[in-house]
Amino acid sequence: MASYKLFVLPGDGIGPEVMAEVEKIAAFFTQQGIAKFEIEKGLVGGAAYDAHGVSISEDDMKRADAADAILLGAVGGPKWDGVPYDLRPEAGLLRLRKDLVLFANLRPAICYPALADASSLKRELIDGLDMMLVRELTGGLYFGSPKEITDLGNGQKRGVDTQSYETYEIERIGRVAFELARKRRNKVTSCEKHNVMKSGVLWREVIIDLHKREFADVELEHQLADACGMQLVRRPKQFDVIVTDNLFGDLLSDVAAMLTGSLGMLPSASLGAIDAKTGLRKALYEPVHGSAPDIAGKGLANPIAMIGSFGMCLRYSFGLGELADKIETAIATVLAKGLRTADIKGDAPSSISTVQMGNAVLEALRASI
Ligand code: NAD
Repeated sequence: MASYKLFVLPGDGIGPEVMAEVEKIAAFFTQQGIAKFEIEKGLVGGAAYDAHGVSISEDDMKRADAADAILLGAVGGPKWDGVPYDLRPEAGLLRLRKDLVLFANLRPAICYPALADASSLKRELIDGLDMMLVRELTGGLYFGSPKEITDLGNGQKRGVDTQSYETYEIERIGRVAFELARKRRNKVTSCEKHNVMKSGVLWREVIIDLHKREFADVELEHQLADACGMQLVRRPKQFDVIVTDNLFGDLLSDVAAMLTGSLGMLPSASLGAIDAKTGLRKALYEPVHGSAPDIAGKGLANPIAMIGSFGMCLRYSFGLGELADKIETAIATVLAKGLRTADIKGDAPSSISTVQMGNAVLEALRASI
């Protein structure tokens, strides 16, 4: 039986609650002899600050580096609002992304038929939606320098951020998108603004060149990022894989995500380069949502985003695509039965708790194995 080392960082707020439901599923797979998951646990965010005075300890950084994959719940909350900027809970997550060079952020937007009416778009536009947004995560406007506010001495100030991309950064994110498309419907839409940005001109050139050299079998189209935003709400099912930079990806992934309803449903993956020795990628899997302090500790959190993130881990880190499919089918089965946590309740007469939803997904999985 293959064995995988998972480093689990439940974090703050609802993080530990939704993570507990994933641990049950991992334990089930281990008990069934399907795959062995060795779970080590660490602290991140406010939990790490309370224990060690930092948002992630050096020891936990080492363990994260050594793991086959990292699962993270969520970080943050009002309890740590007064903490110095460098020690704030989010810094732990940013450090993991930066130090492990997790440059590719994958956010699927899948519309489960049972939830199609929860979208703000008409059912026919999103029923059956299955797209993937690939966002560059470690470069671009959020990291380029100079990044500063200068006092101009005349009562005015100037704020500057720098959008900067080098060829290798565009190539490696492009490669992730093309490789993903090959396993899906074989189409990539690359988004930039080459009409007004030099980084956009380079982005387009590099993607076209990479496509020609290595991925000519994949359909490639280009959209200006603003037009892509419009198309996402106009006709989202035209997309298979969208690849874009850090800034546009930040905006477009939130638009794509909300096509499908609640934050509690949305998984994500952040991937690094493939290690030549092990063949594994550095990878961190986490729900899109935050620590939801308003519902933490009340048993109201929807664990599906976290469970879906574990599914992505099985698919993208461990090559266990069939097992990931079973998790997605189990989630669809539970939703089709009408079981809902409060966030996706809509007009349903009642809702179930975090633990009940986790158990329902586990039972549906058990029935399928
Ligand atoms: P949030 O995602 O925590 O919550 C937004 C709303 O969605 C809340 O009403 C919440 O109850 C609801 N919600 C979120 N996840 C849910 C789930 N699984 N089930 C049911 N409802 C859910 O965003 P926020 O309120 O803006 O931020 C709260 C804290 O989380 C802040 O400290 C923020 O910095 C942090 N945050 C962390 C991450 C992360 O860890 N990656 C991401 C976003 C926000």
